[in-house]
Amino acid sequence: MSFSELNLSENVLNAIKNKGFEKPTDIQMKVVPLFLNESCNIVAQARTGSGKTASFAIPLIELIDEDSGIEAIILTPTRELAIQVADEIDSLKGNKNLKITKVYGGKAIHPQIKALKKANIVVGTPGRVLDHINRGTLNLKNVKYFILDEADEMLNMGFIEDVEKILNACNKNKRILLFSATMPKEILNLAKKYMGDYEFVKA
Ligand code: AMP
Repeated sequence: MSFSELNLSENVLNAIKNKGFEKPTDIQMKVVPLFLNESCNIVAQARTGSGKTASFAIPLIELIDEDSGIEAIILTPTRELAIQVADEIDSLKGNKNLKITKVYGGKAIHPQIKALKKANIVVGTPGRVLDHINRGTLNLKNVKYFILDEADEMLNMGFIEDVEKILNACNKNKRILLFSATMPKEILNLAKKYMGDYEFVKA
């Protein structure tokens, strides 16, 4: 399969080409069509190095409206991963005018508050995201896509309670995508509790 068979815009196809990606990875072949063309929630078992970030970044870029505020939130267990994810989205967005805002601890909060006012996609760690929600500087009522990256790491680091609070602060009608390298029962329980029906993919 090639990227050109995935129903993508010229803009994103060009960005993919510029990054030097020749063909979709296994996880991308499975997640991209489901995310882009169906309205389902997704649980994806995929590890770092599988191309999992682009598997959600590519459809997200296609689906998000530039003028509708924050339509997507991506939670990562670490600030390093938040930076990597934000950079990957940035490098795939081509000339679409999407604002990606990183929100993590250990950095001054005021520049983040300012950036959040213009954001389309927020990428952050649970503690700081929750901090912004509690301050009233992050409103997730328009969120259509909630993506949990490295969910098993979130669990190991004790972030699941915060993740649940953030899930509850989002618009009820959002789609949820959960990525995890392993599928411990706590993660499957979380999926069951918040996602109801979902498609399970593994690559
Ligand atoms: P990830 O698993 O998302 O951390 O991605 C691992 C690395 O693979 C990153 O440097 C990506 O930019 C790269 N990558 C993602 N998709 C592809 C692809 N289809 N072809 C080549 N490299 C890719």
